[in-house]
Amino acid sequence: MGLEMRTVCEKCETGLAPDGEAFICSFECTFCGPCSQSMDHICPNCGGEIVRRPRRTGEE
Ligand SMILES: [Zn+2]
Ligand SMILES: [Zn+2]
Repeated sequence: MGLEMRTVCEKCETGLAPDGEAFICSFECTFCGPCSQSMDHICPNCGGEIVRRPRRTGEE
């Protein structure tokens, strides 16, 4: 199974750049930074923890 790269926040529909900051839960619900912060990093869809999505370009 591949990691689907969603390009919009599921809460506010803000566009998310593939190489920009984005947050994702274990069921791949995707959110922008401000939304994940306002939700305390808990996914409203599945109750899972929201973590920063890895960027495609490997840094460090
Ligand atoms: Zn958002
Ligand atoms: Zn979720």
